[in-house]
Amino acid sequence: MTYTNEQVSHLVEGTLDWDTTFRMLSMPKDNERFGQYLAALQSKVSFKDRIVLPLSPHMYIVQSAKTKQWVIKCDCGHEFCDYTDNWKMHALIHVRDTEEAMAEIYPKLMAPDTNWQVYREYFCPTCGVMHDVEAPTPWYPVIHDFEPDIEAFYKDWVGLPVPERAA
Ligand SMILES: [Zn+2]
Repeated sequence: MTYTNEQVSHLVEGTLDWDTTFRMLSMPKDNERFGQYLAALQSKVSFKDRIVLPLSPHMYIVQSAKTKQWVIKCDCGHEFCDYTDNWKMHALIHVRDTEEAMAEIYPKLMAPDTNWQVYREYFCPTCGVMHDVEAPTPWYPVIHDFEPDIEAFYKDWVGLPVPERAA
């Protein structure tokens, strides 16, 4: 499978969804590409912590330069939590659960019925960038997206040494 220049530039700009990113990065033992990708990401952030894995356009799992723990970090440098925790529980949350709040983003009569669906928007407490949006039913708990198996990803997919990790 080959990728267009446009897809590769989306990849570097971080505007691809995780599924596509994962597929592109997990070409058989293509460690050169993954290494280049990480280097490109690293060059765009100002913190010294090493990026282990991108989670979304503005969010990464990094290896803390101080503690060597793996933590979830915004590209502004804000640290959310350990990489196994649900970062959403450490974010600013805006819930759209009224007709008025939905009207800010939907044309009239196009908005979902808020008895059945709400929007939860998750923001970085430091820089305010929006990291994610969920559209669950109102009573649904905060969704913990995924916990990537980073060690398997490094070993089996990209063929690179797993970054050091302090528990
Ligand atoms: Zn931030």
